Amino acid sequence: MNTNLVSLSGELESKWFKIDDKKMSLKKKKRALSKLSDYEFTQEKTFLGYQMTEYLNYKKNYSKYLNIAMNNVGDPFVGGNLTLNTKAVEVEVLRYFANLWNNKDRGNPLKKDDFWGYIVSMGCTEANIFALLSGRDYLEGKYLLIDDEKAQKAKRLSETLKDAECRINQQLASSYGTMKSTNENKFKPVAFYSQDAHYSIVKAMEVLKIATFNSEAATHGYTCPLTKEDYPQGFSKEYLDENGWPKEVPSKDDGSIYIPALVKLVEFFAKKGHPILVSFNYGSTFKGAYDNVKEAIDALVPILKKYDLYTREIEYADGKTDIRNGFWFHVDGALGAAYMPYIEEALKQKLIKKPTKDYTFPVFDFRIPEIHSIAMSGHKWIGSPWPTGIYMSRVKYQLKPVDDPMYIGSPDTTFAGSRNAFSPLILWEYLSNKSFQDHVQETVKVEEMTQYAYEKLKSLDKDDKCWVQRTPFSLTIRMKKPTQDMIFKYSLSTEELYVNGKKREYAHIYIMRHTTKKLINKYISELKKSHYFKD
Ligand SMILES: *Cc1c(COP(=O)(O)O)cnc(C)c1O
Repeated sequence: MNTNLVSLSGELESKWFKIDDKKMSLKKKKRALSKLSDYEFTQEKTFLGYQMTEYLNYKKNYSKYLNIAMNNVGDPFVGGNLTLNTKAVEVEVLRYFANLWNNKDRGNPLKKDDFWGYIVSMGCTEANIFALLSGRDYLEGKYLLIDDEKAQKAKRLSETLKDAECRINQQLASSYGTMKSTNENKFKPVAFYSQDAHYSIVKAMEVLKIATFNSEAATHGYTCPLTKEDYPQGFSKEYLDENGWPKEVPSKDDGSIYIPALVKLVEFFAKKGHPILVSFNYGSTFKGAYDNVKEAIDALVPILKKYDLYTREIEYADGKTDIRNGFWFHVDGALGAAYMPYIEEALKQKLIKKPTKDYTFPVFDFRIPEIHSIAMSGHKWIGSPWPTGIYMSRVKYQLKPVDDPMYIGSPDTTFAGSRNAFSPLILWEYLSNKSFQDHVQETVKVEEMTQYAYEKLKSLDKDDKCWVQRTPFSLTIRMKKPTQDMIFKYSLSTEELYVNGKKREYAHIYIMRHTTKKLINKYISELKKSHYFKD
């Protein structure tokens, strides 16, 4: 391999890969492939900036599947006509996470009926979009799959019943149907998520045309119910819009949602009769923060009950009614859902210490009965050659697909058509190689490594000039943006944040399963060389 062609800090240039009408010569192709290989494997060595594990070991068992086209189109739990699929593997991966996120049922496998989900073909973005789509349609009173089953059962039943009885039932049903609601907002969900939410949530609002509390307030010219005391410490007015509303739900400095503000905002719209759609962060993108989902929901439930939104009767089709929640709580656990259950266990086993005396673990999973859906990325904590992830919910919240295509022989219950059949193998390989205790121990190791990096950086940041910070149990350390060379070499992610009204340019590093002390030390020593801590 001719490594002279590569400059170490050079970006990969498209000129090496140009395709024209002629078939590429062997020599050119060889050069292109060596450019590619040199570049990717060089960048991998110093990869420190994003929440993406580089510790992959899939080649041995799975490289042969690169030469076979498989497809998991349709529902994971129904085989379908496209038999070249890996759904049998997919279902077991889903069952693992359903158990992990139910916690109390660990070691006591769930029945299929208790959960429903699928492995997405994009990353967590797809899982988030599908969650919010499901939430929107559920709250708008669309048909559910179980409604469909109920209707079919009722039809069969009525056919066996005597005519007279049947007529009475029909009359009863149609009188129900005419009891129309007077609340014009009954089927107009309003969405809430914090200012630390991932851009995929913002994108989902746009794509799905879901009103956020901010857009709804702007449409109607409402006055913001929050007073000065309702904002967290350090909140900057740059996060307010021109009408004095926060653009998103304010977060605390550690990146977690500020529950008092959420509660007040939700109450404002609950009072107007809107169903409530909340997307919580569990491992926020920049600060790695965990919303205290349990605490937030405990504070929201009394409000939902007060405004008859905890459960409500809705009419999803002419004369057909159903009792549903008037809220949908989603957890965007792109990063955190994959390892925080092990942290919880490590705390129980006293393998790690609580960050503060009064710390309580932020429970986020299906132990909270009000949770409707959880999303997770597969290429972040676990690690995969391509984006993947999981959408998880319950059978009773599944929407009826808009169409029932005979073509695939399996219900079209997922977001994508064709679905990645390779990703389930990747996730299964990772899971089958470890016991539950192995996961706990590995998580402890990464937690300790992150704390090591944090303490070392913090000790060099004498007067807090470099803003070195870590949110408890997050895998990320944020700090003042270093030089452009460092950003490129270590693939650092950067972000502008306002703190106490002042704009700051931050970068962060992420400690993942592959991150070694050696790499952290190298990064820190190069920071020092660039006079980072002095200037
Ligand atoms: C990365 C991330 C996403 C999006 O996930 P992709 O897998 O990149 O699509 C969503 N939410 C959070 C909190 C994330 O960190």
